[in-house]
Amino acid sequence: MPAKVAINGYGTIGKRVADAVIKQDDMKIVGVAKTKPNYEAKMALAKGYALYASNKDSLAKFDKAGVKVRGTLDDLLKECEIVIDCTPEESGYKPVYEKANIKGIWQGGEEHSLTNLSFNAAVNYSECYGASYVRVPSCNTTGLIRTLHPLESSFGIESVLAVMVRRATDPYDSKKGPINAIEPELEMPSHHGPDVQSVLKSLNIHTIAVKVPTTIMHLHAISVKLKRTATPKDVLDVWSRSPRIKFVRGEDGVKSTAQIMEVARDMSRNRSDLYEIAVWEDGVHVVNDKQLYYFQAVHQESDVVPENIDAIRAMMKLEKDGKKSIEKTDKALGITG
Ligand code: NAD
Repeated sequence: MPAKVAINGYGTIGKRVADAVIKQDDMKIVGVAKTKPNYEAKMALAKGYALYASNKDSLAKFDKAGVKVRGTLDDLLKECEIVIDCTPEESGYKPVYEKANIKGIWQGGEEHSLTNLSFNAAVNYSECYGASYVRVPSCNTTGLIRTLHPLESSFGIESVLAVMVRRATDPYDSKKGPINAIEPELEMPSHHGPDVQSVLKSLNIHTIAVKVPTTIMHLHAISVKLKRTATPKDVLDVWSRSPRIKFVRGEDGVKSTAQIMEVARDMSRNRSDLYEIAVWEDGVHVVNDKQLYYFQAVHQESDVVPENIDAIRAMMKLEKDGKKSIEKTDKALGITG
């Protein structure tokens, strides 16, 4: 029997996770909950998802707009075994899910302390096997873990400094900025370093972040002091055997995030999403045998999507082996490595 999955919060992440769930043969969407009867709610109905209002107030809004829903979130929670919470940070639904006695997955806007279990399929799938509450860390954190974990396993890591150039907001959003400024995050380290340590517990990492006026991707410039010597080829070989990393080449004309997203569009993926972390093959450099530098780009709207699918599979005990889950998810989503 496929696992019964509900989505609470059908926005940027929620709608992508829903579309990824329906591509799997061992899980299904029993419904999605939304606060407002907007274009996304209407699209959810058009796609055939069972639509629910978040609460009684939003139910009144749906009724007034003539958008048909099956009930409220409370009704939806009776239909599901696990809920994927894709609401904005600190929406506070944990007691609701506990009362309904269902499992829950949260996204990176939440603190690690909400679940005390932060997930990355390649790192700690088995630790989350059968768990009730799990958090999938943010897009940036997931991006850092994807490339740093293989380096840590293969060469050992003395220390990391990651400078993160962050997109201002998502493409659909016409309100947030900056639109003509560069905004440093003055907190040191930025929250990303400690967040990486919620999964890679002993990694010595510092992060610096700045926000820039772009909507399409984040870019990371990463400096890693390795414990053992490596050449750029050694590093690329390790990453080529690691999941959800895609190489791009400046020499092929992929010189910026704009061309990476064009590559994603040319791959004809759903919504042109790039679930993999893009690493510039010709931007990998090693100085003095152990000092590694590289650049990577993160498609913030989608890199966490396959992680959510693997988290469902682990928590619902649909597959014991994390590697097999990753392969199954990737095959269904068209991720070829
Ligand atoms: P979003 O604003 O695009 O979508 C949030 C959805 O939740 C919307 O449909 C909104 O109507 C609904 N909502 C708002 N308040 C609600 C409430 N009180 N109860 C129920 N639903 C409510 O947000 P998002 O970008 O999808 O972010 C969701 C989570 O994913 C956050 O934790 C965020 O930090 C995380 N995340 C976002 C990104 C990204 O780049 N957008 C990447 C990784 C993780």
